[in-house]
Amino acid sequence: MVIAPKIRGFICTTAHPIGCAKHVAEQIEVVRSRGPIANGPQKVLVIGSSTGYGLSSRIAAAFGCNAATLGVFFERGSENGRTATAGWYNSAAFEHEAKAAGLYARSLNGDAFSDELKQQVIAAIREDLGQVDAIVYSLASPRRADPKTGEVFKSVLKPIGASYTNKNLNTSTGEVNEVTLEAAQGDDIAQTVAVMGGQDWEWWIEALLEAGVVAQGAWTVAYSYIGPEVTWPIYKNGTIGKAKEDLERAQHALDQKLVAIGGKAWVSVNKALVTQASSAIPVVPLYISLLYRAMKPEGTHEDTIEQMDRLFRERLCNGAPQPDEAGRIRVDDWEMAPALQALLSERWDSVNTENLPELGDLDGYQKSFLRLFGFGLDGVDYAADVEPDVAVPSLA
Ligand code: NAD
Repeated sequence: MVIAPKIRGFICTTAHPIGCAKHVAEQIEVVRSRGPIANGPQKVLVIGSSTGYGLSSRIAAAFGCNAATLGVFFERGSENGRTATAGWYNSAAFEHEAKAAGLYARSLNGDAFSDELKQQVIAAIREDLGQVDAIVYSLASPRRADPKTGEVFKSVLKPIGASYTNKNLNTSTGEVNEVTLEAAQGDDIAQTVAVMGGQDWEWWIEALLEAGVVAQGAWTVAYSYIGPEVTWPIYKNGTIGKAKEDLERAQHALDQKLVAIGGKAWVSVNKALVTQASSAIPVVPLYISLLYRAMKPEGTHEDTIEQMDRLFRERLCNGAPQPDEAGRIRVDDWEMAPALQALLSERWDSVNTENLPELGDLDGYQKSFLRLFGFGLDGVDYAADVEPDVAVPSLA
């Protein structure tokens, strides 16, 4: 079939298998072009490995550190003439590339929040790897079922205390309008913390430690965002920010637990980038479009792969993590540079629909968004018939 993008709001319901494979290949090339990463982990578990920051982490680990990788994700294969999800195609392509490079790669598709999947991962590590020496936790999900009680929690993106109105970008039309977000109510905060906070990360590491499948000196990292003040009511000081505070609580708790094996837990604060998760957050896409427009000419723009390559190469593996006062790794350092933020703050105040083409990078935003689903990649014939049913080799 010929596959074209079908965009519904902030998601694309189709994905292109060849385009996704090209996207993965381009990310691998970024890492390879920078040469091997010395002193990297050799057996890496990536939880949330199919898209966004988790996929790029898996690529940096495999093609930078030469590591065996075990990837966990929640994706759907092609059925009834529908395309698979982008994360499915990405994972299929990743496994092919890993095999061609002589690297072990195995994937598990299912609910990472469940006890069952944790046990499957432990069994897979025992079978194939013995132990892992790094665990990346990169889940982004709107809901989580508590494995002990079955209760389903839902995460919401809301300000806390009062409603909040600010500029917003319609990423399909380029219109800059306003959005008002109602304040969190009832147990919105607790629900969001239950989904996007640190409890499940803790449960993962505890289960892996208990099973004896974590190597001496291993590290684990989970991802967070802080961003500029203009987004704080919806991000840092909103419901999702409370969940990220809980992630930091979990990091400190895990640090204590990992002492016994000489290990370390990290939170890395990453840059705002177009991913499936971030495109769902109000206000943030307008900020991202201003950010891209300012960083690209400076030569400091990075996508998830450049961010994760830098995290592994220049923070996690070289013995110089450069933590901030709260102990967090900051690969959002270039985004948060004071001069850049001053410029963005000025531009935020004056941006409107008319001057967006000058102040923002809507085209770059839209292209990045489409690339997540395998569209708009150089050298892919989008008019050609393609087979949507692609197997992820280790799941076949
Ligand atoms: P993403 O949507 O691209 O990736 C989410 C991953 O989680 C996918 O691999 C998906 O399959 C997996 N997943 C979701 N629910 C699952 C489940 N129940 N079981 C198994 N796997 C599941 O998201 P992303 O933007 O890469 O976000 C990853 C992390 O990075 C999040 O913690 C996010 O807050 C953080 N982060 C994102 C940004 C950004 O701008 N995108 C910036 C800083 C930090």
